[in-house]
Amino acid sequence: MNSDSSKISNIQTNKETSIKTILVTGGAGFIGSHLVDRLMIEGHKVICIDDLQTGDISNTLSHHNSVNYEFIDHDVIDTYDVEVDAIYNLACPASLSFIRADPVHSFKTSILGALNALDLAKRRNIPILQASSSEIYGDPERHPQKENYWGNVNPVGERSCYDEGKRGAETLCADYFTQYGVDTKIVRIFNTYGPRMRILDGRVVTNFIVQALKNEDITIRSDGLQTRSFCYVDDLVDGMIRLMNYSGPHLGPVNLGNTSEYTILELAHIILKLTGSKSKITYIAATSDDPLRRQPDTTLAAQSLGWSAKISLEEGLISTINFIEKALSKEN
Ligand code: UDP
Repeated sequence: MNSDSSKISNIQTNKETSIKTILVTGGAGFIGSHLVDRLMIEGHKVICIDDLQTGDISNTLSHHNSVNYEFIDHDVIDTYDVEVDAIYNLACPASLSFIRADPVHSFKTSILGALNALDLAKRRNIPILQASSSEIYGDPERHPQKENYWGNVNPVGERSCYDEGKRGAETLCADYFTQYGVDTKIVRIFNTYGPRMRILDGRVVTNFIVQALKNEDITIRSDGLQTRSFCYVDDLVDGMIRLMNYSGPHLGPVNLGNTSEYTILELAHIILKLTGSKSKITYIAATSDDPLRRQPDTTLAAQSLGWSAKISLEEGLISTINFIEKALSKEN
């Protein structure tokens, strides 16, 4: 894909209807593809930009024959132009193993990816939703995390390219709003899981399910008493769409996550129970700068969007386990 800002899509916008043409960057990824599904079900036209570095074309294959869907293979660090009514900017690797494989490119994806998407939103005078992360709080000293907490982030650690990249992207969104009046919407996404996660990307939900299904040791990092709050992907997508459709006074960043907090050890036991696994638990070294506690305060999302996560951990894990079971059986 060339790196000039020439128009690279054939789909046309529909100014006269509520049906929109929507750009989803990272639309072939885990969260992005679920968002694409929802937007297509709602009858919108969707343009998906993804370079498939961590996305998977099979996630969106069901739409490839639709006249309302267009896939563009493009790295968002290079500029682009498409004629759309709204942008969801999700393109970014999310697991530590992928982020660390090329930290400089990961950082560029957050910063230049946001810059290019914001420039498009400014040129076309359209809203943009930026996928940020609970990682912007770093290893939080306040609990639960509210949007007005500024965080505790190591700028030069293993996770920094992601954390600081997402922080920089938020800064760009805030400045495009104040300086140019771009309608920017920032979501801070807390740990999200569900079908289509890459099963070998090293994240805890997929690692534990794969290990449990194979009756291999469950690898708990550190003492397993660190906590996370796990949100099922359908809940998250619902919150993102609500924020995009929100037309009240401009909101700052909005936390989206499930408020039920679990230790990693508790998560392991739930997965062992749900899979009926014979796996044993083993303890391995912690990664550096691993946040000790994480739980969203979602009062703002509840008050402004009428949103809260609805799907319980057990319910969400069952469908994730089913997905991973199928994926593993295809491997054999
Ligand atoms: N973790 C673990 N075993 C694993 C993978 C992860 O104990 O096999 C821990 C990890 O150290 C962290 C938590 O699970 O404390 C969540 O890790 P993940 O990479 O899924 O998400 P993040 O750290 O980005 O929240």
